[in-house]
Amino acid sequence: MALNIITEQDHGVVIDLVYATKNNLAGKIVYRQAVCALHPDAEACLNKAVVYARQAGFTLKIFDAYRPNKAQEIFWSVLADPQYVSDPSQGSNHSRGVAVDVTLLDANNKELDMGTGFDAMEDASHHTCTSLPEAVQKNRLLLLGVMLHAGFKPIASEWWHYELSNSHEYPMIDSDLVTV
Ligand SMILES: [Zn+2]
Repeated sequence: MALNIITEQDHGVVIDLVYATKNNLAGKIVYRQAVCALHPDAEACLNKAVVYARQAGFTLKIFDAYRPNKAQEIFWSVLADPQYVSDPSQGSNHSRGVAVDVTLLDANNKELDMGTGFDAMEDASHHTCTSLPEAVQKNRLLLLGVMLHAGFKPIASEWWHYELSNSHEYPMIDSDLVTV
């Protein structure tokens, strides 16, 4: 199964793969080598999301896309909580190439305030969190609208995570585009 490489130039996104840095829940570099890559079906939806976001004056920023299952094993060893981390024996939809972690940048390339940072494993990251300021709720709804319109669906526990609605029909992908 071929993954397509996503680039800032070709796709009009900003890419910051946090697992290629130490700034992530594992506290260390997880991706020794990484490119941003998605299954072609997810890439097609991403392309739509880029257009819808752009029409409203925003740019999509990607934190993670394809993730090898070996990385999933590392995250599971750090946090074995299925609400936030998929059990590697089940496989993450990121490892199927059909999930993407995103936020929106404004016209000044500044991230919208989503109430928490990416990968904040807490109640405030849930879509249903009611204690967030209106401005944050609005920003999350904006991202939700863009992504739903493009064909993605959200998950309840992470405002940044979007995936294809039939993700589980896709097989796990073992690609060396991202190495652990
Ligand atoms: Zn995700």
